[in-house]
Amino acid sequence: MAGPLVLIGFMGSGKTTLGRRLAAHRGVEHVDTDALVEQRLGAPIAEVFERDGEAAFRRAEEQVVLEQLAAGGDRVISLGGGAVLSEAVRTALEGMVVVALDVDVETAWERATADGAADRPLARDRDAFARLHAERAALYDELARAVLPQADPDVIVRADGALRVLEAAPPGTRMVWASAASGEYPVYVGAGVLGLDISGLPKLGGRGVVVTDSAVSEHHLGKVRSPSGVVEIPPGEEHKTLETAERVWRSLVAQGVTRSDHLIALGGGVVGDLAGFCAGCFQRGIPVVQAPTTVVAQVDSAYGGKTGVDLPEAKNYVGVYHQPSAVLADTSTLATLPRKEFAAGYAEVLKTALIAGGRLWERVAAGEPLDDDMILACARTKLAIVAADERDSGRRQVLNLGHTVGHALETTLGYGTLRHGEAVGLGMLAALRLSGLEGLRDQVAELLAAHELPTSLPEVDVDAVVAAVARDKKRVGSGPTPFVLVRAPGEVVEGQPVEEGALRAAVAELAATTRSEGHR
Ligand code: NAD
Repeated sequence: MAGPLVLIGFMGSGKTTLGRRLAAHRGVEHVDTDALVEQRLGAPIAEVFERDGEAAFRRAEEQVVLEQLAAGGDRVISLGGGAVLSEAVRTALEGMVVVALDVDVETAWERATADGAADRPLARDRDAFARLHAERAALYDELARAVLPQADPDVIVRADGALRVLEAAPPGTRMVWASAASGEYPVYVGAGVLGLDISGLPKLGGRGVVVTDSAVSEHHLGKVRSPSGVVEIPPGEEHKTLETAERVWRSLVAQGVTRSDHLIALGGGVVGDLAGFCAGCFQRGIPVVQAPTTVVAQVDSAYGGKTGVDLPEAKNYVGVYHQPSAVLADTSTLATLPRKEFAAGYAEVLKTALIAGGRLWERVAAGEPLDDDMILACARTKLAIVAADERDSGRRQVLNLGHTVGHALETTLGYGTLRHGEAVGLGMLAALRLSGLEGLRDQVAELLAAHELPTSLPEVDVDAVVAAVARDKKRVGSGPTPFVLVRAPGEVVEGQPVEEGALRAAVAELAATTRSEGHR
């Protein structure tokens, strides 16, 4: 007998509404534990708080919730927001499919205090409410096997197929439902997710052809569940080109791939960008599953739908937005990643942590080693930003922190000289200098060095780097290239103007030796 699916989340996250929708969709019973507690105590929650105090309410709540969880069954159970404060409840939830519903504090407050909403004793003081929201977030994150973003109530019905896949997945697997203007998709993170059967998900019923590079194929191709074909490309940024894309397209034609089939991009960011681009253009677009195998790809590049190839003149200059239909971030694949590649990926973790601030930054700043939780936190940070601005017209640009100078270094030094992550690390140092944050720049430099990442280069051609910055894709019209700057961890701002002199100084600082012809 299947166990229950349990919804958790803060007040106003929609646990009752979404629980009812999912139960109706599945044709199973829905249980709302708040309603059961009120029934048992014979009074509304607000009255119980008033009459007997919060502790009395929590005792009754714990009892009701434990009974419901123990009863099992194929049901949907919506827990009260504070039910997870009980250790006994948290223990009982172990091994169950627990789905957390995200809600931001403004929306939660609006919903909890709306006209006609039940009186909620914990939603009377706005500041106390916000503190509670922040405290509980960590608890929900810790318990959740799946997270659904704040969306319309039918999101849970659209995500149901993906939740069913999660129910059958290895116990450590976690899922986030990604939502962007052009599509929604599940992201699975955990050891062994390459073996999940996702053929029942929308658009993935046809044949799946793996695109991978020869280094990845050797270790991980065998983990992909029943691929229908394979296209292998040589590894390395220097092969992220139109020429390689054409080879992939022609191989797809030779394998008889049609619009009902899909590609599986198995590899790092190079394979992900190239295969995503090939899928986005082949017969004007076929679905792609991103199966990232590097740290860079698992924390960043697999999400958000940016795909493309390099031109000799500039990186990522030709591409399309093409959202994946699913992402399988199998963390077991990182075991074979060469040490230098692992380190390069750490630069993207650092970047994401600076953008996110909060708990992720605390963990990274404390030098904690990368684990599945951090990978998931990075993925969620990126997905939240993409959800707000899929096409890079504003907020999404914060993800380019360190990339403006980073890409310029990659272009001027020749692709493949610096790893992408190494270049981003150096670019972040320049961005922090331009942000005027000396202390944070030193802290980030220390973290980079501790991960064997470069904090300077033997030589930098400042003119060439500044010229490459001027060609950056973020530039619009004839104005200067806008920069992403940092005010503090968790406060990163896009679209900032930067004086050429300051840029030259920040780039020159990266070098032990600086070459500059026109300007001294
Ligand atoms: P990569 O794809 O070149 O992989 C690095 C190397 O590791 C390659 O040689 C690859 O063969 C090897 N490798 C990959 N997985 C392995 C594994 N599990 N075991 C052993 N070897 C393995 O580099 P990357 O750092 O993953 O990605 C960099 C690329 O990602 C750049 O082209 C960058 O522009 C792009 N990127 C794109 C986005 C986006 O949003 N689309 C974001 C960030 C970066």
